[in-house]
Amino acid sequence: MPADGPARVRFAPSPTGWLHIGGARAALYNFLVARQTGGQFILRIEDTDRKRFQPQAEQDFMDGLRWLGLEWDEGPDKGGPYGPYRQTERAHLYRQYAEQLVEQGHAYYCFCSPERLAKLREEQRRKKLPPRYDGHCRHIPPEEAKRRVEAGEPHVIRFKTPREGSITVHDLIRGDITVANKDIDDYILLKSDGLPTYHLAVVVDDHLMRITHVLRGAEWLGTFPLHGHLYRAFGWPEPVWVHLSTFLKPSGKGKISKRDADVFRKGHKSVLIRDLRAFGYLPEAVNNWMALMGWSYDDRTEFFTLDDLIAKFSLERLKPSPAAVNFKKLDHFQGLHVRALEPGDLARRLVPFFHRAGYPQVTAADLLPIVPLIQTRITTLDEAPQMAGFFFRPQVSPKPEELVPKGLTPAQALEVARRALAVLEALPDVRAETTEPPLRALVEELGLHARQVFGLIRVAVTGQRVSPPLFESMEILGRETVLQRMRQAVTLLETLAQQEAAA
Ligand code: GLU
Repeated sequence: MPADGPARVRFAPSPTGWLHIGGARAALYNFLVARQTGGQFILRIEDTDRKRFQPQAEQDFMDGLRWLGLEWDEGPDKGGPYGPYRQTERAHLYRQYAEQLVEQGHAYYCFCSPERLAKLREEQRRKKLPPRYDGHCRHIPPEEAKRRVEAGEPHVIRFKTPREGSITVHDLIRGDITVANKDIDDYILLKSDGLPTYHLAVVVDDHLMRITHVLRGAEWLGTFPLHGHLYRAFGWPEPVWVHLSTFLKPSGKGKISKRDADVFRKGHKSVLIRDLRAFGYLPEAVNNWMALMGWSYDDRTEFFTLDDLIAKFSLERLKPSPAAVNFKKLDHFQGLHVRALEPGDLARRLVPFFHRAGYPQVTAADLLPIVPLIQTRITTLDEAPQMAGFFFRPQVSPKPEELVPKGLTPAQALEVARRALAVLEALPDVRAETTEPPLRALVEELGLHARQVFGLIRVAVTGQRVSPPLFESMEILGRETVLQRMRQAVTLLETLAQQEAAA
């Protein structure tokens, strides 16, 4: 449990692609820390990489976070006391802090051309050395460097990593990490376009925004010592650091590639939040699933609502080891959360899926009676229109052959259909308790299996072989529709039986 009062935490995505489970899980954990401690959750857009910038990404993050229920307290769209919350709108700040480091001897101007750096890289590659800046500009006298900058010469600002000694940084779940300074590059802090690199921007912003806990991806472990150096050079107190576990392919072997992502999508699975939403996963299920990839409460409890997570989350129980993405688990959580919804709530959430599937007139009130029939039978919400669309079609069009039960000829099936229709016509209504006993009696009388008779009626009235429970479905369809669809089945079977006889 993050003690020490309200935490200020942030989700700081780079708008270079869609929100995926890696980012969303980091956002979730940060959100939980904020809500649990009565602190603030901040959304900061790290858009200083202009080459990889994607204009729709920011909106996608916001839509995804809101859908997951991870509302932020401060951010680019709502402002806050430490704004602006887009790094490109804070550009002037970074230069000022970079220059402060230059003045204090912790950083220096570098004028090396891209060509020189490329040649250096090439040489290092040939000698099998790690790519490293060689310190060429490290010793340019400050006045000379200043003059060249003022004359407009292209430059960057690099960190002047100490050449001796080592640095120790502390991760809450990984412990102390010690690195020899000679193994740390003179990283660029301010680029030639005047914008900061991640390393400078993250340190400056986390400090200025009074961030108390940094929960971020393990891909930043490599440059974590540099960030420690920067805090110490500025003389700022460090936040609590936590580097979250990485995600692996479902097989547990290696990181998820773009190719994997395409394969997932073909199987109606995805690591993108926008896809999971479109497929009809519940945000509750996605949160539950993500929360347990890298954290556990007691290694037993598996069902968590967002409120449960707020109450029970603890930083100490985050796991540093990588987690294989398991979509079966996602489906499992989806099942649990679908069953846990109030019927009215599920009905409301199903509406857009019916609209998209071609039933634009369907309302939540229409769906309410159907919900009990499908709530235990669907996994993703987009399965509901396939399963229950027949309630809203003016007509169904069963394939005549599908009306013929296994083991019967078309002529025999026609006889069954006629008898079933006669039973239904004689009844005053089609409530389940009215229709079931006489139809079961018919099964007995015909000496058939229930499966054969009810299968035929199912195809006749729903148009499909798999449907919600038959008697309850007929009750919802109503007497007129049931009779009309049964008559249609009789007609279809008459034609089929005639064709068969003629053949
Ligand atoms: N912009 C960084 C990223 O998207 C943020 C990492 C962090 O949380 O500090 O990876």
